[in-house]
Amino acid sequence: MQDKQYNVDELGMPQLSVALSKELKRFDGRLEDVPAWGGASSGMGWVFRPINTDQLAEVFAIAHKTDLSIGLRGGGNSYGDAAYNSNGIVLDLCRFNRVLDWNPETGVIRAEPGLTIHQLWEYTVEDGWWPPVATGTAKTTLGGCAAMNVHGKNAFKVGPIGDHILEFDLMLPSGEIITCRRNENSDIFFAAIGGFGMLGCFTSITLQMKRVYSGLLDVVALASTDLSVMFEQFRALLPTSDYLVGWVDGVASGNGLGRGQIHKANYLEKGVDPYPEQSLRVDNQNLGDTIFGIVPRSIIWQGMRLFTNNYGLRAANLGKYAVSYATSGSKIRQPHAQFHFLLDYVPNWKKSYGGGGLIQYQPFIPRDSAENAFKTILRTTQRHDLPTYLGVLKRHRPDAFLMTHGLDGFSLALDFRITQANRQRIVRMVRELDEIVLDAGGRFYPAKDSTLRPSVATAYLGADTIARFRELKQRYDPDSVLQTNLWRRVFMTP
Ligand SMILES: Cc1cc2nc3c(=O)[nH]c(=O)nc-3n(C[C@H](O)[C@H](O)[C@H](O)COP(=O)(O)OP(=O)(O)OC[C@H]3O[C@@H](n4cnc5c(N)ncnc54)[C@H](O)[C@@H]3O)c2cc1C
Repeated sequence: MQDKQYNVDELGMPQLSVALSKELKRFDGRLEDVPAWGGASSGMGWVFRPINTDQLAEVFAIAHKTDLSIGLRGGGNSYGDAAYNSNGIVLDLCRFNRVLDWNPETGVIRAEPGLTIHQLWEYTVEDGWWPPVATGTAKTTLGGCAAMNVHGKNAFKVGPIGDHILEFDLMLPSGEIITCRRNENSDIFFAAIGGFGMLGCFTSITLQMKRVYSGLLDVVALASTDLSVMFEQFRALLPTSDYLVGWVDGVASGNGLGRGQIHKANYLEKGVDPYPEQSLRVDNQNLGDTIFGIVPRSIIWQGMRLFTNNYGLRAANLGKYAVSYATSGSKIRQPHAQFHFLLDYVPNWKKSYGGGGLIQYQPFIPRDSAENAFKTILRTTQRHDLPTYLGVLKRHRPDAFLMTHGLDGFSLALDFRITQANRQRIVRMVRELDEIVLDAGGRFYPAKDSTLRPSVATAYLGADTIARFRELKQRYDPDSVLQTNLWRRVFMTP
């Protein structure tokens, strides 16, 4: 993996025209090796970082002039190749991130697409509003979240983020901006949300936030002795939970297959927190820079390296499970940010996976077939001696978006460490997993994907759905300006 940045002048731009080189310099365009978040792949592209719609429109004009394609990028937190565009332009929208309108009475916020979930909650929490859907990292942007229609640990109750988007403005590759709501330009509303940036670029998003009466959540942790128990616990607890998530130990086998721990969290009702102004303060949401007041969080990933091999993983999971078993039933009050963004509190944790990086595989499987399918998946990974380093179970509900991965069922996110030696073995194993998922009526999630093949995408989405999406793309992006590696790999070729 390279992460070197090249200056336009240094490269001499052998493959680009003089006209384009001038344009690139005017916008501070740089040739960069743009990585997948998981670090297992990357693509060289010309990166622009526009700050407003005028600059955005100009980059679209450059693309038309030069026949280069454009891939959109938010925070770059997609695990695979969804947010880079080899040999083309990458429009990195992180600097296009102002809040345009905020109403603390109604909780409706309108913002530019580069606003991160972190910036969003910091802006609204002291007024008593929290994002309706929060991803496991707060480094994601509103645009990236809408384009993937992300879900949180409350997906079973509130659906994906698209269910909370009231309207958005979308810049088409022609430079025209259209406003979309459920009842205005509704076909594109339901296709651009979850359409992984292939129909246009969100230039503003209007979101309904969730009212909260405290900065704290009531959190209960329970041990699950195997996957069947975890499923039973999920079924029993869903009706009374605001959030529910399970950690699955990927190395436990036999009677302990799929054992782990679940966390159930609930909002505090109005009046329960005696000091809501205090608990809602931004300062009281974030963790300090050290753990136990001594160990800087920034160095923890180095210690984690000891456990990112199959032996270390066994020891770490055993320890984690033993603690969760011993403390099962424990209750704490935890700030929202600490509950949701635990992974962000160990900076650079993914570096502990080593230079080959990681990929994630997150199948979504219908309610009735999920338990058996996930057991078969776990057994398959163990048979290949390629156990998951992190398994996370969530419950979901169906939604109305065209390219949806949502369904009435469960998802199991599985992280796999990639090395030179195991790369091809992982790919072969994933082919087997795909069959298990398809047989169980499951779906896949482009935000996490690195391995999906066109035939598998057609099998889970249906040829009609893909044809409908291509029709919309042909209408709104007739020159196929918007492309990413994911699009070319999975969907571009009929
Ligand atoms: C540690 C970690 C935890 C995660 N937890 C969750 C989770 O709990 N739930 C979940 O659903 N996902 C989760 N994800 C995945 C992540 O939420 C998605 O990949 C999300 O799309 C990333 O947002 P981003 O801003 O980084 O977008 P990017 O990864 O940069 O881009 C995502 C997609 O959006 C498109 N895009 C970006 N900006 C725009 C725009 N303005 N207009 C149109 N298209 C655009 C890109 O082309 C790309 O296809 C997690 C990822 C990580 C690394």
